[in-house]
Amino acid sequence: MSRRRRVYEGKAKVLYEGPEPGTLIQHFKDDTTANNNQKHATIEGKGVLNNRISEFIFSKLNDIGVPTHFIRSINMREQLIREVEIIPCEVVVRNVAAGSLSKRLGIEEGTQLPRSIIEFYYKNDELGDPMVSEEHITAFGWATPQEIDDMMALALRVNDFLAGLFLGIGIRLVDFKVEFGRLYEGDMVRVVLADEISPDSCRLWDTRTNDKLDKDRFRHDMGGLIEAYQEVARRLGILFENEPKRRGPTLVK
Ligand code: UDP
Repeated sequence: MSRRRRVYEGKAKVLYEGPEPGTLIQHFKDDTTANNNQKHATIEGKGVLNNRISEFIFSKLNDIGVPTHFIRSINMREQLIREVEIIPCEVVVRNVAAGSLSKRLGIEEGTQLPRSIIEFYYKNDELGDPMVSEEHITAFGWATPQEIDDMMALALRVNDFLAGLFLGIGIRLVDFKVEFGRLYEGDMVRVVLADEISPDSCRLWDTRTNDKLDKDRFRHDMGGLIEAYQEVARRLGILFENEPKRRGPTLVK
């Protein structure tokens, strides 16, 4: 087998050159980091679960007309994606107070927010991804006003879709982070959803018990991360080990 060219290596993923121009292979590693890289661990099986969960969510989003970079699954750890130019802004959508919002504004974790709130963070590890406003984004040319509008509209569509999907399987979508990229098609450029959506990038709480089914288990040394991610995959109907084959989520009453 010929050696693939590595295009980029991040904290939890590697990007390789794809089989055709304009494509890449996104490979999910088992590495996990928190607190701006101060905490690091390798958790066996995490990459496989995140790849499975993210490809499931991205293909559903493609199905409802949300443009994404996802093309198709390749294997347990890899997916074929379109090459995009990543916009250097992390977009966080919040439905319930938690994490940095609770800390910054003194709002108790678990408080339902009056409406979904969108925040922007500048993607820069050296600076620890600082929160920025639309003013900073346009003034420094990270994205145009139109691109900001597109990102916000898409983020809200993703939020509505995900909140419903998760509620149906007994999970509260507290918040999540997404990234967007510019897809160049001939003379056209459009904003599409990129990166991943997985329990690494969402806060997911069991609706009955409030159990955390996400990366906070690692951030707060709670243990049971793999079991929690497996539970998310199992409820989405995409974990096939030791159970009859079933596709799609099972409604939790
Ligand atoms: N998040 C992420 N990557 C980051 C920062 C945040 O995926 O670099 C996600 C995080 O998992 C949560 C949401 O974005 O679902 C909001 O995170 P918050 O701002 O509360 O940050 P934290 O408490 O993790 O510092």
